[in-house]
Amino acid sequence: KTFYDFKVDPDIIENLQKCNFEEPTPIQKQAVPLMLEGRQILACAPTGSGKTAAFLVPIIMHLKGPERKGFRALILCPTRELAKQTQRECVRLSEGRGLRIHIISKIKKALTQYGSSSSQKFDILITTPNRLCYLLKQDPPAVSLKNIEWLVIDEADKLFETGSRGFREQLDEILKACDGNDRKIAMFSATYTPVVAKWCVHNMKGLVRVTV
Ligand code: AMP
Repeated sequence: KTFYDFKVDPDIIENLQKCNFEEPTPIQKQAVPLMLEGRQILACAPTGSGKTAAFLVPIIMHLKGPERKGFRALILCPTRELAKQTQRECVRLSEGRGLRIHIISKIKKALTQYGSSSSQKFDILITTPNRLCYLLKQDPPAVSLKNIEWLVIDEADKLFETGSRGFREQLDEILKACDGNDRKIAMFSATYTPVVAKWCVHNMKGLVRVTV
């Protein structure tokens, strides 16, 4: 199976080729078609398996182009470094689509940036839960998630493990802020973790599990 078989748009295939991603990796073969169908997934895929492109390709396909209605996809990463890497890959894979990708790094800057309607300037938000929750806790909230269609949780095992209670509470807040539309979740975890699996079973309707 190739990216063509999954009906990935030719311009994205060209971007994949520019990154030397000719053949989909096993996780991409499983996750891409499922997410393209709109299924929510729990994918066990270690770092190095190509998991980043596995979720970025379907997200870029779903968003098509800029719509100027604010963030439509949210990618949560455990560290700022991973968020940066994900942003770089997202920029390369979405080249030519005009999607506006934003990473929250500096809180103070973010606070001034998202005030009022300015968050409509972006389509994809990549950040860590701590930074995002800080912005959500402002009164009024300094970022709007009401148009989020896809939420990706990357390295979920790490996020759930770093003060497991803490992250679950943050995730509840984030989901509450996404409420009101039919958002979908794609959870990626390097290892199989019962805590993560349990959370997914409770919170993701029609969940499909994928393991490589
Ligand atoms: P990741 O698991 O997303 O951190 O990706 C691990 C490495 O594999 C990264 O350096 C990617 O650039 C690379 N990669 C991802 N997908 C492919 C692919 N289909 N073919 C070749 N390399 C890939």
